[in-house]
Amino acid sequence: MCKECYSDKNRITPLLNPLDCLENHTQYICGTCGRCICIEHDPNRGLQRWNFPFRSLEIAKLYLRTADYTTKKACGIYEIENSKGKVSYKIFPGNEDLLLFLKKNKDKKCKRMTPVFTVGDYKEYPHTEVRKLTSDEIKRYMNER
Ligand SMILES: [Zn+2]
Ligand SMILES: [Zn+2]
Repeated sequence: MCKECYSDKNRITPLLNPLDCLENHTQYICGTCGRCICIEHDPNRGLQRWNFPFRSLEIAKLYLRTADYTTKKACGIYEIENSKGKVSYKIFPGNEDLLLFLKKNKDKKCKRMTPVFTVGDYKEYPHTEVRKLTSDEIKRYMNER
């Protein structure tokens, strides 16, 4: 697993509509393996992809680095269950944020109340870039997928 972005698949993201994401959204470009992770704030609510629920722990892990980098701390991935027993994964900077979320979403619960995954310590890396890709970079990245 890449020590900077926590994935061993260095071209797996963007998962959906990759071209659209690479062309229009600001990317976290991993300085270690080159993986691009969408870090764009949506214009309406200011939310980033990592603020939304993920359907698996594996997918949540792909976005965890953008949460860590944005908040400058080691965030946690928590397992959330709804009233029908459906499980999803959400990233929170800390337990207080989880508690606030549970308070606002009475139909949801978190059995363990601790992260199922976190890297523990936040680190910065020297070659990280956060920007939009050039069209040549997008072509190269797509070819490498
Ligand atoms: Zn995107
Ligand atoms: Zn990486």
